[in-house]
Amino acid sequence: MTRAPRFPVGLDRLKSAPRSGPGKAGADTLRPQGPLQHAAQDAARRSPPSGLGMDSAAVRQRMVQRLWSDGIRHEALLQAFGDVERHRFVDTALATQAYEDTSLPIGLSQTISKPSVVARMLALLLQGEKARASGRLGRVLEIGTGCGYQAALLARLGRPVVSVERLRGLHEKACENLAALRGGELQLLHGDGRLGHGPRAPYDSIVSAAGGDDVPVAWLEQLAVGGRLVAPLHDPARGGQVLLVVDRQPGGLVRSWHDPVHFVPLKSGAE
Ligand code: SAH
Repeated sequence: MTRAPRFPVGLDRLKSAPRSGPGKAGADTLRPQGPLQHAAQDAARRSPPSGLGMDSAAVRQRMVQRLWSDGIRHEALLQAFGDVERHRFVDTALATQAYEDTSLPIGLSQTISKPSVVARMLALLLQGEKARASGRLGRVLEIGTGCGYQAALLARLGRPVVSVERLRGLHEKACENLAALRGGELQLLHGDGRLGHGPRAPYDSIVSAAGGDDVPVAWLEQLAVGGRLVAPLHDPARGGQVLLVVDRQPGGLVRSWHDPVHFVPLKSGAE
Protein backbone atom coordinates (compact mmCIF):
# COMPACT_ATOMS: atom_id res chain seq x y z
CA MET A 1 0.00 0.00 0.00
CA THR A 2 1.41 3.41 -0.85
CA ARG A 3 0.93 6.15 1.69
CA ALA A 4 0.49 9.76 0.78
CA PRO A 5 3.55 11.82 1.80
CA ARG A 6 2.99 13.65 5.08
CA PHE A 7 4.29 16.94 6.28
CA PRO A 8 7.51 16.14 8.21
CA VAL A 9 7.28 15.27 11.89
CA GLY A 10 7.37 18.43 13.93
CA LEU A 11 6.30 20.69 11.09
CA ASP A 12 2.76 19.32 10.94
CA ARG A 13 2.46 19.79 14.69
CA LEU A 14 3.59 23.36 14.28
CA LYS A 15 0.93 23.71 11.61
CA SER A 16 -1.80 22.67 14.02
CA ALA A 17 -0.22 24.04 17.19
CA PRO A 18 -2.44 26.59 18.87
CA ARG A 19 -0.81 29.99 18.88
CA SER A 20 -3.10 32.71 20.08
CA GLY A 21 -6.84 32.82 19.83
CA PRO A 22 -9.22 29.85 19.80
CA GLY A 23 -7.84 26.39 19.32
CA LYS A 24 -7.35 23.01 20.97
CA ALA A 25 -5.06 24.41 23.65
CA GLY A 26 -3.16 21.76 25.55
CA ALA A 27 -3.48 18.96 23.00
CA ASP A 28 0.00 19.47 21.60
CA THR A 29 1.87 19.70 24.87
CA LEU A 30 1.71 15.94 25.42
CA ARG A 31 3.09 14.97 22.03
CA PRO A 32 6.76 14.12 21.48
CA GLN A 33 8.63 16.91 19.76
CA GLY A 34 10.57 16.51 16.50
CA PRO A 35 13.87 18.18 15.63
CA LEU A 36 12.21 20.72 13.38
CA GLN A 37 9.90 21.87 16.12
CA HIS A 38 12.89 22.26 18.44
CA ALA A 39 14.61 24.28 15.74
CA ALA A 40 11.58 26.56 15.41
CA GLN A 41 11.39 27.01 19.17
CA ASP A 42 15.11 27.79 19.34
CA ALA A 43 14.70 30.31 16.54
CA ALA A 44 11.78 31.91 18.38
CA ARG A 45 13.85 32.20 21.57
CA ARG A 46 16.80 33.70 19.70
CA SER A 47 14.79 36.25 17.78
CA PRO A 48 12.22 38.42 19.45
CA PRO A 49 9.87 39.75 16.75
CA SER A 50 11.45 42.82 15.20
CA GLY A 51 9.03 44.89 13.19
CA LEU A 52 7.28 41.79 11.88
CA GLY A 53 4.27 42.24 14.10
CA MET A 54 4.14 38.46 14.62
CA ASP A 55 6.41 35.79 15.92
CA SER A 56 8.93 35.43 13.10
CA ALA A 57 9.55 31.70 13.70
CA ALA A 58 5.84 31.00 13.21
CA VAL A 59 5.73 33.10 10.04
CA ARG A 60 8.78 31.23 8.80
CA GLN A 61 7.11 27.91 9.47
CA ARG A 62 4.23 28.96 7.27
CA MET A 63 6.75 29.66 4.50
CA VAL A 64 8.22 26.18 5.12
CA GLN A 65 4.73 24.67 4.84
CA ARG A 66 4.26 26.40 1.48
CA LEU A 67 7.58 24.98 0.28
CA TRP A 68 6.45 21.54 1.42
CA SER A 69 3.16 21.99 -0.46
CA ASP A 70 5.21 22.92 -3.53
CA GLY A 71 6.88 19.50 -3.34
CA ILE A 72 10.08 20.29 -1.41
CA ARG A 73 10.66 17.21 0.74
CA HIS A 74 14.33 17.33 1.79
CA GLU A 75 14.15 17.58 5.55
CA ALA A 76 17.49 19.39 6.12
CA LEU A 77 16.53 21.88 3.41
CA LEU A 78 13.15 22.61 5.02
CA GLN A 79 14.89 22.92 8.37
CA ALA A 80 17.38 25.44 6.93
CA PHE A 81 14.47 27.56 5.63
CA GLY A 82 12.89 27.33 9.09
CA ASP A 83 16.12 28.43 10.77
CA VAL A 84 17.41 31.29 8.63
CA GLU A 85 15.76 34.62 9.41
CA ARG A 86 15.13 36.03 5.95
CA HIS A 87 13.79 39.30 7.37
CA ARG A 88 17.28 40.08 8.72
CA PHE A 89 18.71 40.07 5.18
CA VAL A 90 16.40 42.72 3.73
CA ASP A 91 15.78 46.37 4.47
CA THR A 92 13.70 46.91 7.62
CA ALA A 93 11.00 48.56 5.49
CA LEU A 94 10.61 45.25 3.63
CA ALA A 95 10.78 42.96 6.67
CA THR A 96 7.02 42.37 6.73
CA GLN A 97 7.24 40.90 3.21
CA ALA A 98 10.26 38.74 3.98
CA TYR A 99 8.29 35.48 4.28
CA GLU A 100 6.05 36.01 1.28
CA ASP A 101 7.00 34.16 -1.86
CA THR A 102 8.40 37.19 -3.55
CA SER A 103 11.77 38.50 -4.69
CA LEU A 104 12.87 41.68 -2.90
CA PRO A 105 15.33 44.48 -3.70
CA ILE A 106 18.65 44.33 -1.81
CA GLY A 107 20.24 47.49 -3.21
CA LEU A 108 22.50 48.25 -6.20
CA SER A 109 19.69 47.12 -8.56
CA GLN A 110 19.96 43.50 -7.35
CA THR A 111 17.31 41.26 -5.80
CA ILE A 112 17.04 38.38 -3.38
CA SER A 113 15.22 35.54 -5.17
CA LYS A 114 11.84 34.34 -3.98
CA PRO A 115 11.98 31.46 -1.48
CA SER A 116 10.30 28.96 -3.83
CA VAL A 117 12.98 29.53 -6.48
CA VAL A 118 15.85 29.32 -3.97
CA ALA A 119 14.32 26.10 -2.63
CA ARG A 120 13.94 24.67 -6.12
CA MET A 121 17.59 25.37 -6.94
CA LEU A 122 18.85 23.89 -3.68
CA ALA A 123 16.55 20.86 -4.06
CA LEU A 124 18.00 20.26 -7.55
CA LEU A 125 21.53 20.52 -6.09
CA LEU A 126 20.61 18.00 -3.38
CA GLN A 127 19.58 15.55 -6.11
CA GLY A 128 23.12 15.45 -7.54
CA GLU A 129 24.83 12.06 -7.31
CA LYS A 130 27.19 12.83 -4.41
CA ALA A 131 24.60 14.94 -2.56
CA ARG A 132 21.96 12.21 -2.87
CA ALA A 133 24.35 9.69 -1.36
CA SER A 134 25.28 11.87 1.61
CA GLY A 135 22.14 14.00 2.06
CA ARG A 136 24.45 17.04 2.11
CA LEU A 137 25.85 19.46 -0.47
CA GLY A 138 29.50 18.77 0.34
CA ARG A 139 31.95 21.43 -0.88
CA VAL A 140 29.95 24.39 -2.22
CA LEU A 141 30.66 27.32 -4.54
CA GLU A 142 28.02 30.05 -4.81
CA ILE A 143 28.23 32.78 -7.43
CA GLY A 144 26.35 35.96 -6.47
CA THR A 145 26.38 36.31 -2.66
CA GLY A 146 24.03 39.30 -2.79
CA CYS A 147 22.79 39.95 0.74
CA GLY A 148 23.95 36.50 1.87
CA TYR A 149 20.58 34.83 2.45
CA GLN A 150 21.21 31.84 0.21
CA ALA A 151 24.77 31.57 1.56
CA ALA A 152 23.29 31.21 5.07
CA LEU A 153 21.10 28.34 3.81
CA LEU A 154 24.06 26.75 2.01
CA ALA A 155 26.17 26.92 5.18
CA ARG A 156 23.57 24.68 6.85
CA LEU A 157 23.72 22.13 4.06
CA GLY A 158 27.36 21.88 3.06
CA ARG A 159 30.92 22.80 3.93
CA PRO A 160 33.05 24.54 3.15
CA VAL A 161 30.93 27.18 1.39
CA VAL A 162 32.72 29.70 -0.80
CA SER A 163 30.54 32.56 -2.07
CA VAL A 164 31.70 35.20 -4.55
CA GLU A 165 30.08 38.61 -5.17
CA ARG A 166 31.22 41.10 -7.81
CA LEU A 167 29.73 44.25 -6.20
CA ARG A 168 31.76 45.46 -3.24
CA GLY A 169 28.75 47.13 -1.59
CA LEU A 170 26.82 43.86 -1.49
CA HIS A 171 29.88 41.83 -0.51
CA GLU A 172 30.28 44.12 2.50
CA LYS A 173 26.59 43.89 3.35
CA ALA A 174 26.79 40.08 3.24
CA CYS A 175 29.91 40.14 5.46
CA GLU A 176 27.87 42.07 8.04
CA ASN A 177 24.79 39.85 7.69
CA LEU A 178 26.84 36.68 7.98
CA ALA A 179 29.35 37.87 10.60
CA ALA A 180 28.37 35.07 12.98
CA LEU A 181 28.85 32.34 10.36
CA ARG A 182 31.99 33.54 8.59
CA GLY A 183 35.23 31.72 9.14
CA GLY A 184 37.01 28.72 7.71
CA GLU A 185 33.79 26.98 6.63
CA LEU A 186 32.06 30.02 5.08
CA GLN A 187 34.27 32.18 2.94
CA LEU A 188 32.90 35.36 1.33
CA LEU A 189 34.94 36.78 -1.53
CA HIS A 190 34.75 39.98 -3.55
CA GLY A 191 35.55 39.27 -7.20
CA ASP A 192 34.33 37.97 -10.53
CA GLY A 193 32.50 34.72 -9.83
CA ARG A 194 32.76 33.75 -13.51
CA LEU A 195 36.27 32.64 -12.58
CA GLY A 196 34.98 30.43 -9.76
CA HIS A 197 37.52 30.01 -6.96
CA GLY A 198 40.35 27.66 -7.88
CA PRO A 199 42.10 27.40 -4.50
CA ARG A 200 39.20 25.49 -2.86
CA ALA A 201 38.11 23.48 -5.91
CA PRO A 202 36.84 20.93 -6.73
CA TYR A 203 33.27 21.58 -5.57
CA ASP A 204 30.50 19.01 -5.15
CA SER A 205 27.83 21.70 -5.59
CA ILE A 206 28.02 24.90 -7.62
CA VAL A 207 25.08 27.31 -7.71
CA SER A 208 24.76 30.63 -9.47
CA ALA A 209 22.27 33.31 -8.45
CA ALA A 210 22.85 35.24 -11.69
CA GLY A 211 22.12 34.14 -15.25
CA GLY A 212 24.34 34.45 -18.32
CA ASP A 213 24.36 33.36 -21.95
CA ASP A 214 26.90 30.65 -21.29
CA VAL A 215 28.27 28.57 -18.43
CA PRO A 216 31.78 29.81 -17.59
CA VAL A 217 34.43 27.18 -18.29
CA ALA A 218 35.96 27.69 -14.81
CA TRP A 219 32.76 26.39 -13.17
CA LEU A 220 32.84 23.20 -15.23
CA GLU A 221 36.56 22.73 -14.52
CA GLN A 222 35.99 23.21 -10.79
CA LEU A 223 33.07 20.73 -10.57
CA ALA A 224 33.99 17.45 -8.84
CA VAL A 225 33.17 14.05 -10.34
CA GLY A 226 29.71 13.18 -8.97
CA GLY A 227 29.10 16.89 -8.42
CA ARG A 228 26.25 19.05 -9.75
CA LEU A 229 25.98 22.63 -10.98
CA VAL A 230 22.69 24.56 -11.05
CA ALA A 231 22.53 27.91 -12.84
CA PRO A 232 20.06 30.11 -14.69
CA LEU A 233 20.99 30.24 -18.37
CA HIS A 234 19.54 32.24 -21.24
CA ASP A 235 17.80 29.88 -23.61
CA PRO A 236 17.43 31.47 -27.07
CA ALA A 237 14.76 28.91 -28.03
CA ARG A 238 12.50 30.15 -25.20
CA GLY A 239 13.63 33.76 -25.33
CA GLY A 240 14.19 33.65 -21.56
CA GLN A 241 16.12 31.96 -18.77
CA VAL A 242 15.80 28.37 -17.64
CA LEU A 243 17.51 26.47 -14.84
CA LEU A 244 20.36 24.44 -16.26
CA VAL A 245 21.69 21.42 -14.38
CA VAL A 246 25.12 20.02 -15.22
CA ASP A 247 26.31 16.75 -13.69
CA ARG A 248 29.94 15.70 -13.90
CA GLN A 249 29.83 11.98 -14.38
CA PRO A 250 32.93 9.82 -14.78
CA GLY A 251 32.26 9.71 -18.54
CA GLY A 252 31.78 13.47 -18.95
CA LEU A 253 29.29 16.31 -18.43
CA VAL A 254 25.54 15.70 -18.64
CA ARG A 255 23.23 18.68 -19.07
CA SER A 256 19.50 18.97 -18.40
CA TRP A 257 17.14 21.92 -18.62
CA HIS A 258 14.47 22.71 -16.02
CA ASP A 259 12.10 25.51 -14.93
CA PRO A 260 11.85 28.93 -16.58
CA VAL A 261 13.25 31.60 -14.20
CA HIS A 262 14.11 35.32 -14.01
CA PHE A 263 17.48 36.03 -12.44
CA VAL A 264 19.63 39.17 -12.57
CA PRO A 265 22.35 39.06 -15.25
CA LEU A 266 25.70 37.38 -14.68
CA LYS A 267 28.23 40.12 -15.41
CA SER A 268 31.99 40.08 -15.92
CA GLY A 269 34.54 41.78 -13.68
CA ALA A 270 34.17 43.19 -10.18
CA GLU A 271 33.21 46.73 -9.06
N1 SAH B 1 22.02 34.67 -3.52
C1 SAH B 1 21.73 36.07 -3.37
C2 SAH B 1 21.03 36.61 -4.60
C3 SAH B 1 21.72 37.80 -5.12
S1 SAH B 1 21.21 38.34 -6.70
C4 SAH B 1 20.96 36.35 -2.09
O1 SAH B 1 20.54 35.41 -1.41
O2 SAH B 1 20.80 37.53 -1.76
C5 SAH B 1 22.58 37.83 -7.69
C6 SAH B 1 23.90 38.46 -7.38
O3 SAH B 1 24.84 38.01 -8.37
C7 SAH B 1 23.96 39.97 -7.43
O4 SAH B 1 24.33 40.46 -6.18
C8 SAH B 1 25.01 40.29 -8.51
O5 SAH B 1 25.81 41.40 -8.20
C9 SAH B 1 25.82 39.01 -8.49
N2 SAH B 1 26.63 38.75 -9.67
C10 SAH B 1 26.34 38.94 -10.98
N3 SAH B 1 27.39 38.58 -11.75
C11 SAH B 1 28.36 38.13 -10.90
C12 SAH B 1 29.68 37.63 -11.09
N4 SAH B 1 30.24 37.52 -12.29
N5 SAH B 1 30.38 37.28 -9.99
C13 SAH B 1 29.86 37.39 -8.74
N6 SAH B 1 28.63 37.87 -8.51
C14 SAH B 1 27.88 38.24 -9.58
